[in-house]
Amino acid sequence: MSSTLPSSLGETLRQLFGDRFSTAQVIREQHGRGESHHTPAIPDAVVFAQSTEEVAQIVRICAAQSVPVIAFGAGTSLEGHLTAVRGGVSIDLSRMSKISRVSAEDLDCTVEAGVTREQLNTHLRDMGLFFPIDPGANASIGGMAATRASGTNAVRYGTMRENVLSLTVVLPNGQIIRTGGRARKSSAGYDLTRLFVGSEGTLGIITEVTLRLYGIPETISAALCSFETVEQAVAAAIAVVQLGIPVARMELMDRGLIQAVNAYSSLSLKIEDTLAFEFHGSPASVREQIEMVAAIVEDNGGRDFEWANAPEDRNRLWKARHNAFYAVVSQRPNAKGWSSDVCVPVSELSGCIVMTRELLKTCSVPAAILGHVGDGNYHVVFAVDPDNRAELEEIAAINKKMVRYAISVGGTSTGEHGVGSGKIAYMREEHGDAVDLMAVIKNAIDPQNIMNPEKILPQ
Ligand SMILES: Cc1cc2nc3c(=O)[nH]c(=O)nc-3n(C[C@H](O)[C@H](O)[C@H](O)COP(=O)(O)OP(=O)(O)OC[C@H]3O[C@@H](n4cnc5c(N)ncnc54)[C@H](O)[C@@H]3O)c2cc1C
Repeated sequence: MSSTLPSSLGETLRQLFGDRFSTAQVIREQHGRGESHHTPAIPDAVVFAQSTEEVAQIVRICAAQSVPVIAFGAGTSLEGHLTAVRGGVSIDLSRMSKISRVSAEDLDCTVEAGVTREQLNTHLRDMGLFFPIDPGANASIGGMAATRASGTNAVRYGTMRENVLSLTVVLPNGQIIRTGGRARKSSAGYDLTRLFVGSEGTLGIITEVTLRLYGIPETISAALCSFETVEQAVAAAIAVVQLGIPVARMELMDRGLIQAVNAYSSLSLKIEDTLAFEFHGSPASVREQIEMVAAIVEDNGGRDFEWANAPEDRNRLWKARHNAFYAVVSQRPNAKGWSSDVCVPVSELSGCIVMTRELLKTCSVPAAILGHVGDGNYHVVFAVDPDNRAELEEIAAINKKMVRYAISVGGTSTGEHGVGSGKIAYMREEHGDAVDLMAVIKNAIDPQNIMNPEKILPQ
């Protein structure tokens, strides 16, 4: 990695930001990596910003000398999003953690980008409200918008794409703009909000986000049921979607995952291929959903519904599910997680999972299948040795087959984790010549290519 930070620029930032500017090795290392196996690339410096104006000031100073800037939220991304491949300055937004406004009447709120989803939900709970997008990790709202995140609740509530109403963004020249507004619909001009949602810090830095909120459901009920084969579990999930039953969560966990989760979270779940459900609504509607789902499960060979209705049981279940990534990784000392992330039209899910199971039969490292199957989105988490080249190549080959299959049936190389550097190789295969238009947009907004360079687009 080449250092691109002119000493005068470092001195200017140090004078302006004092101890919120750091070149300490340990701080830089924390900012040059996410949570996965990708090789880190550390930035030359880190600045902890506290306001939109400060972010704009840092960006202007860096732009004047063509120095890269990389936004940092909570550092939980999985596809090498944060690697400072050309050095530069990491702008850490975690101290921008103000919840500026909540409107219970309009079911929306405005927060600074560094607010985490858990912090937001803790704040909202006493108002009877919640924000449903749940990537498991305690990610920042800015990072979630930047990666177009989703997670377990997306089958019912959508992704960040559907739930971001408006953004404040610092552009690569330091200009501050607001996209969208608080109206639930608008036909006024290009939809810049959706351009920045999913742009992974390559077009600008999001400093404020206005989000849709929801009332906490009157009744919440969760259940697990087991199947003899993963194909039966997937068939049941597809039937639930096709009948339009509005489940709030529908998660697949294969038996390998259940084994890992039991060991990691001290649980004693039955070691079988499993679907985990959550139902939201009025008591009558939840009862109706449960009856319909139970009939579908039975028709597909499922059995042994186990209920988790008390809040503490439900929390334990979903916490274990959220820790699934770490549960698989912990099966092997010094391993790192590599998570695949394909998403297909739901009618193609069964074929994909069967193909994936075949590939895993000869896989040499611990691996488990899990997925937000209601959306046609599933992952394989591999526990890899990041220093073992042969192993990395083996997993890359499996990943490539999964991605190619998904694209061939109308799906995508990434349902929710994003492109980062890990999925760049598939962008042309997935989007064809539309990639060239993406490059035109990038070049128009960021002609110096300072915003998180070498991410999303093939160079
Ligand atoms: C155990 C585990 C489970 C996960 N499960 C899911 C899941 O179910 N669904 C899912 O969608 N994801 C999941 N993820 C991935 C991760 O949590 C998401 O990608 C999350 O949205 C990243 O948010 P962050 O705040 O950590 O962003 P970071 O990792 O800090 O940054 C991610 C990217 O966004 C950019 N960025 C960050 N903040 C801003 C900003 N304010 N403005 C512009 N760009 C910005 C960064 O430059 C980088 O390119 C999981 C991760 C882990 C570790």
